[in-house]
Amino acid sequence: MPAENHQEACKLCSQKVAIKGFTLVLAGKEYKFCCAGCLCIFRLLYSEKQHNNYPPNTNKES
Ligand SMILES: [Zn+2]
Repeated sequence: MPAENHQEACKLCSQKVAIKGFTLVLAGKEYKFCCAGCLCIFRLLYSEKQHNNYPPNTNKES
């Protein structure tokens, strides 16, 4: 067994995840966070990213 224990880094701020439980599963992928705040912000950013995948204004006015 390796001496160093594998610690996950927060997906948002890259800090070491000391407390387990702040996990978010999106599209079958698991994301770990150091705190509930990071989890919330990441989820917010993720949903915004999803929105950006939509085509922008299709009815262009020129
Ligand atoms: Zn964090």
